[in-house]
Amino acid sequence: MAAREPSAAHVVLLEKLIGALTAKGILTEAEIAAKKSATEKASPETGARMVARAWTNPEFRARLLADGTAAAEEFGISLAGNPPLGVLEDTPALHHLVVCTLCSCYPRVVLGFPPHWYKSTAYRARAVRDPRGVLAEWGTMIPAGTQIRVVDSTADYRWMVLPVRPEGTEGWSEDQLAALLGAEELVGVALPKVARAQAA
Ligand code: FE
Repeated sequence: MAAREPSAAHVVLLEKLIGALTAKGILTEAEIAAKKSATEKASPETGARMVARAWTNPEFRARLLADGTAAAEEFGISLAGNPPLGVLEDTPALHHLVVCTLCSCYPRVVLGFPPHWYKSTAYRARAVRDPRGVLAEWGTMIPAGTQIRVVDSTADYRWMVLPVRPEGTEGWSEDQLAALLGAEELVGVALPKVARAQAA
């Protein structure tokens, strides 16, 4: 399904809102432009690089899990004006799945714009009700013995997943590891697969 174009009414509303915020000195046009450009430049590559570093560098891994916001800043990504970034550590016993049940809250600074499916009502409702079933539809089979924890991304906290490093990647560089990771792996709907990078 194609993204909907904003209607004329939405454009007028946006212009009025920007006008009111700038008139009151709450925001400047320059701040809005900087934020737009940062969001447009953001992509899952950043999150992928952070996870690849965590897989190869135990000190960075600890920092990433303790404070995702500060860890992103090590990559030159400022979260100023954004909710903090939390990072969820997958283990063989625990798999995390990120959803925004209310709307489309997503760690845009490290993953870019949310994919269309992430914003769909079906994903938002079903990820909570039947996470194992939704994951199976993606082809992501989580073993019965692995717990699935669904985490709600909100206006107060944005979440990214630190997946388990796949077997067969011993000795790989950060670049090779980052190539295993896209938006799907970084919110937990897919698991990083070695075959994907080898085929690329
Ligand atoms: Fe939201």
